[in-house]
Amino acid sequence: MAKLIDGKAFAEGLRKRIAGAVSTLKAEHGLTPGLAVVLVGEDPASKVYVANKAKQTVEVGMNSWEHKLPADTSESDLLALVDKLNKDSSVHGILVQMPLPKQIDSAKVLNAIDPAKDVDGFHVVNVGRLSTGQEALVACTPTGCVMLAKDVLGDLSGINAVVIGRSNIVGKPVAQLLLAENCTVTIAHSKSKDLPSIVRQADLVIAAVGRPEMVKGDWIKPGATVIDVGINRIERDGKAKLVGDCDFASCEKVAGAITPVPGGVGPMTIACLLYNTVKAASAIKGIKAPAM
Ligand code: NAD
Repeated sequence: MAKLIDGKAFAEGLRKRIAGAVSTLKAEHGLTPGLAVVLVGEDPASKVYVANKAKQTVEVGMNSWEHKLPADTSESDLLALVDKLNKDSSVHGILVQMPLPKQIDSAKVLNAIDPAKDVDGFHVVNVGRLSTGQEALVACTPTGCVMLAKDVLGDLSGINAVVIGRSNIVGKPVAQLLLAENCTVTIAHSKSKDLPSIVRQADLVIAAVGRPEMVKGDWIKPGATVIDVGINRIERDGKAKLVGDCDFASCEKVAGAITPVPGGVGPMTIACLLYNTVKAASAIKGIKAPAM
């Protein structure tokens, strides 16, 4: 049976290290990192995410601001708020919660954020820096996936990594991070042919598809590490249940290590957001960011 990768425990440890780094920044540099989160509208899942982000930001000793705007906010009003936050020197990280209402062009808003404060790592400047091997603020969930993979496997150099999914949020940035770790990276997607045989080549599988339990145990090379990013709400035996993109029951029989859903990648995302805020605040102040 595969070893269970406990993302909840890893994220807890990471948050403790971040809290330590924040108190050092305060004591030695008079710097309190601050994160501003903007929520437009009433999406229930987004409201929960934003509340959790604010809670954990405060818990590690950082400043937190929540800007809640009505669902009919115009693009120009949102851009005006982003501009104000860009100019506010107490704000080091800006996160605009996605998805945005239809009247707003998300790409325009994401690219209006000062790249130095882009703690979600979605600005084209940060995406470009990542893909050219320069220092960047990197998307949070991909960062969390690679931290967990390195915790299990140590050096990733030379291993075969298969990423399933090519979204800008997870698939592409996680593939770039793995390339930077010297993996041989394959990106599979909805048009890939014979996905099972591609996945069977992988020492490390990262599934970011959004299809419940799609990856089966007989696709997995014995002993491979499986990082399941998927969060899918299904109903089973009349009960609501969260499942990943991997069929956990069959995959855990073959894999060497596997993340559960929930409790795997999920908890890493906010922890990495907090780390990005520390990195952004340090860089803005001209201080070397503490390693995590
Ligand atoms: P997305 O819908 O933007 O992208 C899905 C990708 O999967 C696409 O690139 C598509 O080509 C690929 N795909 C779809 N069907 C496929 C198939 N049959 N075979 C192979 N590839 C296929 O989704 P996303 O935003 O990248 O998110 C993926 C999953 O990860 C979702 O379940 C989402 O909820 C979850 N997620 C979790 C976190 C977290 O843990 N914090 C963060 C982001 C996303």
